[in-house]
Amino acid sequence: MSQPRSELSSLLSRLPKVDQVLDQPALADSGWQRAIQKRLVTDALDALRAEVRDGKTPALPDAAALASRVRATLDDWSRPRPRPVINATGVLLHTNLGRAPLSPAARRAMVDAAGSCDLEVVLPTGQRGSRFTALLPLLRAVLHAEDAHVVNNNAAALLLACTVLGPPGGVVLSHGQMVEIGDGFRVATMAAAGGCPVIGVGSTNRTHPRDYEAALRGEAPGHEGRPASAILWAHRSNFEQSGFVREVELPALSEIARAHGVPLVADLGSGSLGGGLPEGEPTVMEYLQQGADLVLCSGDKLMGGPQAGIIAGKAELVQRCRRHPMARALRPDKTTLAALHATFAAHARPQGVPSLPLHQMATVSVTELRQRAEALASALAWPLPQAVVDSRATIGGGSLPGDTMDSVALRVPTKAPSRDAKRLRLGDPPVVGRIEDDALLLDLRSVDPHDDERLLHALRALQSR
Ligand SMILES: *Cc1c(COP(=O)(O)O)cnc(C)c1O
Repeated sequence: MSQPRSELSSLLSRLPKVDQVLDQPALADSGWQRAIQKRLVTDALDALRAEVRDGKTPALPDAAALASRVRATLDDWSRPRPRPVINATGVLLHTNLGRAPLSPAARRAMVDAAGSCDLEVVLPTGQRGSRFTALLPLLRAVLHAEDAHVVNNNAAALLLACTVLGPPGGVVLSHGQMVEIGDGFRVATMAAAGGCPVIGVGSTNRTHPRDYEAALRGEAPGHEGRPASAILWAHRSNFEQSGFVREVELPALSEIARAHGVPLVADLGSGSLGGGLPEGEPTVMEYLQQGADLVLCSGDKLMGGPQAGIIAGKAELVQRCRRHPMARALRPDKTTLAALHATFAAHARPQGVPSLPLHQMATVSVTELRQRAEALASALAWPLPQAVVDSRATIGGGSLPGDTMDSVALRVPTKAPSRDAKRLRLGDPPVVGRIEDDALLLDLRSVDPHDDERLLHALRALQSR
């Protein structure tokens, strides 16, 4: 129901004026530009007016109330974002929580590179250099690859590789590998985003060598006369198929690619380098050995590094990717390269891999997790044994779907699990747990042991409410 005109204008006239709000003490010493404050006040007033016009009857704030509301926003903006949180979800690589936590060495390297650094200068000669010079020999050695290139993320690696190698005929991809990776993004559409046709072949559950061969001869239904220029293989990162299924494995696919003189590009996603992480996920090196000409993967999944996309494989193909104009648009910044270098240096040393937080979380024993949980529970005077429960953690981040690890969780003693989960998320530090069977669980496998003290602090705050 809309208001009668006169009533409406009287309501609207009761709203404070912009300058009146700006002159309130709450805003006088905010330290923010007046133009910024004005924008917030105007937006808040516009929102109130819209509500009134829509027939709602919002509580109309006076100038002081509106000023303190705006001040709260400004104070919120004063804090660094994104904020550090404690990941107690039990998902080790949680995409929404920033995927792999970086090693101390990688964090230091990022901070050191944040100022001026020798990103593109060769210090002995003073000549211009490439931002990849320092990193690539290490990458090639660790990956056992002829050459490698780095972009912003694996989606960018996929886009670049398909844009460079796909046209004119495009890439052929099995329907069984048309993965949706999250947030609605799909491997096939990302591959096509740079103008590369994607020829889907086979069926959801079964794809045969003859399906690929038909596409490479230009006989795929709907693509007649336009032979595919490359084969794309996508790792089923986040789902499994069983039953009446058939997939052409990489070695066989590699033979088909060779027979037709086209490259085989394998989107691995997870980017495992082996080194003791849970078995079962293929490594970049295995994909290369099995005949992939290019392997694409993320830096912040099983590699345990920063967000980055890695293109590794045949030197000639990698160079074509590196020289494409799109490579410039997708290039990583200095802090990413610094963190990636530190991460690869860790992978190259026997003592290095255990220093990666992801590795520590994946390999910590259940006994140790239980000790930490019991210490926390007793510090909080929570009832044992109910407060310490067995749990299942997962790697996440598009790897090892369906695979879980034994873990231990704190079970928050509460009658209102969702309410307390929210309180913990809004606490300081924010703690993100998970609700399971109507209980609020804080899985310790995804929590850095150094954060146990801060977790305790957050739980004490919850308890004292
Ligand atoms: C995760 C993933 C991607 C996307 O990688 P980002 O680094 O998140 O851009 C692409 N393909 C596969 C198979 C993946 O698992």
